Amino acid sequence: MMHHLLEALRHVVGATNVFTDGDLSAWEQDWRQRSLGKALAVVLPGSTDEVAQVVKLCADYRARHPDSGLALVPQGGNTGLTGGSTPDDSGRQIVLGLKRMNTVRELDAANLTMTAEAGCILQTLQETAAQADLLFPLSLAAEGSCTLGGNLGTNAGGTQVVRYGNARELCLGLEVVTPQGEVWHGLTGLRKDNTGYDLRDLLVGSEGTLGIITAATIKLYPLPAAQLTAWAALPSLEAAVKLLALAHQHLGPGLTGFEVMEQFALSLVAKHFPAMRMPFATEPSATLGSPWHVLLENSDHESEAHARERFERLMELALDSGCVVDAVVAESLTQARQLWHVRESIPLAQVKEGPNIKHDISVPISRMVEFVRSTDDALQALIPGVRLVNFGHLGDGNLHYNVQAPAAMPAQDFLQRHEDAVNRLVYDAVTHFGGSISAEHGIGAFKLDYLQTYKSPVALGMMRAIKQGLDPQNLLNPGRVVAA
Ligand SMILES: Cc1cc2nc3c(=O)[nH]c(=O)nc-3n(C[C@H](O)[C@H](O)[C@H](O)COP(=O)(O)OP(=O)(O)OC[C@H]3O[C@@H](n4cnc5c(N)ncnc54)[C@H](O)[C@@H]3O)c2cc1C
Repeated sequence: MMHHLLEALRHVVGATNVFTDGDLSAWEQDWRQRSLGKALAVVLPGSTDEVAQVVKLCADYRARHPDSGLALVPQGGNTGLTGGSTPDDSGRQIVLGLKRMNTVRELDAANLTMTAEAGCILQTLQETAAQADLLFPLSLAAEGSCTLGGNLGTNAGGTQVVRYGNARELCLGLEVVTPQGEVWHGLTGLRKDNTGYDLRDLLVGSEGTLGIITAATIKLYPLPAAQLTAWAALPSLEAAVKLLALAHQHLGPGLTGFEVMEQFALSLVAKHFPAMRMPFATEPSATLGSPWHVLLENSDHESEAHARERFERLMELALDSGCVVDAVVAESLTQARQLWHVRESIPLAQVKEGPNIKHDISVPISRMVEFVRSTDDALQALIPGVRLVNFGHLGDGNLHYNVQAPAAMPAQDFLQRHEDAVNRLVYDAVTHFGGSISAEHGIGAFKLDYLQTYKSPVALGMMRAIKQGLDPQNLLNPGRVVAA
């Protein structure tokens, strides 16, 4: 029976855009290599109409064969970190890849908006905006391969949230294929539209469970005259929180990035990428030995000289107050890129070090120090010698609080023996400090069980009602975000 469905899908998108045989692992394996699924097929539609037809065919099939387990898993760049974009191992889920839908439909400079299809690569969108002297500020380490659809599907954050907000704040309108195969034409460049429930905000961050985003209208900003990057070495995380307050006070909206890195995270970069130029190259042992480091970005609409003056003033104040022990402001764009490259290499360095237990958490900035101190202590008590790879978007109260096996313990043993206990310890602490167990990566499949414990029953009930109302057949991305 499935054979007829696959034939019909080939008819819609073209036989060369349906894959059923051979090596499909690029679509079946998640980025972290934590789960390898088995797809019934990979289907790559090239237009909104084709997406709608594919969904309709699958919805009809599912209605006729409710026990078939047929489902659709939307996928963009497959850089998601929670196992939400790859199929399960049933062999009954179709990966719906959006990457062929990669047209920028319109750039409206006067309205400061761009309308682009879901499969556009984030970096392409940044470059397209820059060619028009405009800025699309969403920026993250996976920008060379993640897509707009995935960015909106996960409500991605990244490195400029402190100034411009998450993907949700950057999105004005959406075009969406519903689980029934209808098209919602919600593309709009309006900044004000109070006409009932905000479907855009509901769809953004729904991780492919409520609809398939086929295009979006996103916000652009004037390109700053200068963007300067500085690297600071700090004596403590407390000092980083103080530096953040100083930066807000002295740079105002010019503060567009504030990333924190603990020394161990940087030591992994130095270990696994020995050719990489680390900051303070002349005195690596001394300054890299500082326990915490911060990467700051200052965007200025006046001039580079103005930006430099304000940045240097901030660093002087920070040095005087003792919250920074050493700092360098990048002299050129190349140097700035090198600094960012170090920060962005931490996730890859962790992969090379071996699997670890990832937590993408947020707590109020005012409670961050207390959270890290008490959770570090509790983890050391639970597993002596455990190594913490701490880094993240401190400007947003978001830390990638990752837990690596003690040096002498094989990573797989560590995961098998301790993963659940470590997760519960960290999430209990997050809850105690009024935080969230997922700041930006989403729930996907990996955090589904934990959500049942850490989200309020009332909120979970409303989420289930929304899913049931929009996708009663549970056709889109089942087993993700909401438990059946
Ligand atoms: C090195 C690295 C660094 C990262 N840094 C950050 C970071 O700083 N901030 C951050 O937030 N994330 C970060 N991520 C996570 C990831 O890059 C983002 O979540 C990204 O937005 C996912 O985009 P994607 O196209 O790869 O989506 P995918 O991985 O393909 O999909 C992610 C989710 O969105 C759904 N989806 C995909 N396309 C659509 C669509 N068209 N319609 C509806 N649903 C869809 C999928 O079903 C899945 O649930 C990072 C990942 C890596 C590997």
